[in-house]
Amino acid sequence: MNERLILVLDEGTTSTRAMLFAPDGRRLGMAQADLSQYYPQPGWVEHDAAEIWDKTLACARDMVMRAGGADRIAAIGITNQRETVVAWDRRTGQPLAPAIVWQDRRTAGHCAVLRDAGEEEAIQRRTGLVLDPYFSATKMRWLLDHAPAVAEAGSALAFGTIESWLMWKLTGGLHVSDASNASRTQLMALDGTDWDQGLCDLFGVPPHALPQIVDNVGAFAETRAEWFGQPIAIRGLMGDQQAATIGQGCLTPGSAKATLGTGAFVLAPMGSTVPVSRHRLLGTLLCRLPGETNYALEGSVFVAGSLIQWLRDELRLIATAEESETLARSVPDSGGIAMLPALAGLGAPHWRPDATGMIRGLTLGTRRGHIVRAALESLSHQLHDLAGAFGSDGMPWQGLCIDGGMSANDWIAQDLADILGVPVDRPADVETTARGAAMLAAVGAGLFPSLAAAAGGMGAARRRFTPALPDDTRDERLRRWHALLAST
Ligand code: ADP
Repeated sequence: MNERLILVLDEGTTSTRAMLFAPDGRRLGMAQADLSQYYPQPGWVEHDAAEIWDKTLACARDMVMRAGGADRIAAIGITNQRETVVAWDRRTGQPLAPAIVWQDRRTAGHCAVLRDAGEEEAIQRRTGLVLDPYFSATKMRWLLDHAPAVAEAGSALAFGTIESWLMWKLTGGLHVSDASNASRTQLMALDGTDWDQGLCDLFGVPPHALPQIVDNVGAFAETRAEWFGQPIAIRGLMGDQQAATIGQGCLTPGSAKATLGTGAFVLAPMGSTVPVSRHRLLGTLLCRLPGETNYALEGSVFVAGSLIQWLRDELRLIATAEESETLARSVPDSGGIAMLPALAGLGAPHWRPDATGMIRGLTLGTRRGHIVRAALESLSHQLHDLAGAFGSDGMPWQGLCIDGGMSANDWIAQDLADILGVPVDRPADVETTARGAAMLAAVGAGLFPSLAAAAGGMGAARRRFTPALPDDTRDERLRRWHALLAST
């Protein structure tokens, strides 16, 4: 094994991980550390940026050692939880406040003020994003207004999302953010290449505190020698959902990927067309390479795997998430049960934050298996509606690539194919986010001439599920689902 390897730093919400990939796509090792979650008030979610850095470095060092030393690493690729904001001091490299995590809702009031002022439509047109505390801009303003160390830092203030923070620490002071992460701050126009002065003014974020926006692949910098014994080149940077799309090899219009974890995140590449959704999907930058920018439409379903967790931990209908598959197969159908999984409202395309869940059709003949099966079916129903919104926006799915914890369930994979009426592909290795970052770094290191070549050379083997359900059964299920939706 003499080929040089790719080191990926995959910075998630609940854990940080480092992985090694061979240029032929084999995943050779992984180190992982859990991250502390802080919930200081209802709706607030914080991380400790210093902890993120310390654990990232420890996991990366573990992998560099396993690879046989820094000279065995051709390049590093970084992928990360998006939208989360870190503020630090350029002089000391120390965080100035807790990092505000993407899930944090504390800026709902600021968003409401901007909405009341009639700004939402223009913001959405420029950034592709709805006005919501999810995105970074209002989080940055909150820190300026409420964290004294941030307010007083003046020209020493540096803001960044997580890849930006890690780049600063790894390189010893390079302040950059990649275009995919920058597109989620709400401070960059989708068709722009730099921070938008008008948006910075509107949200009250000083541009001098922001990083320089760079491509997703490039000769950005090298790590400081002290971290791994000698410098390693950093060649790829990308937000996690975009990286999963690349890692799935979903590069061309018509393809789509769904990451089925706690919630479900769907991205469909649009090519070089700047997306404008008329059905409340998000427009996002997928990938920027020298001279070429590609976009994607994005839609999120809030409740996917969390419904399975709820069946397990609250209703205690199943002992493990895997058991949901056995139970779904134990009955021929849902026995007339229909479930609306609106346990956290309904996301795209319905956008009903007020909706609550429902189970309809209970009788004395209802078995545990019927309820569990109806829960699994509800994922396909939600994705069916999402597919409709993508289609109405001119981006119908010709197939769906799935990953994430819930994609391990064969019954769900088949049911998705049946209800969506398109083939569903699942890679043998579901670490597609890290694989996407590895592909970017491999292109940056010159191992492949293009992303398409990297996807061909490093893509994981797949299993395909093809639609098999009779049309009348499918139509009846969807009729019952839409009747349930209409009654909320
Ligand atoms: P996240 O990245 O959002 O933390 P993961 O991708 O790790 O999520 O997926 C975990 C989720 O997947 C959990 O909510 C769990 O209930 C669900 N899950 C895991 N395995 C299965 C399975 N075999 N069938 C159904 N759901 C599953």
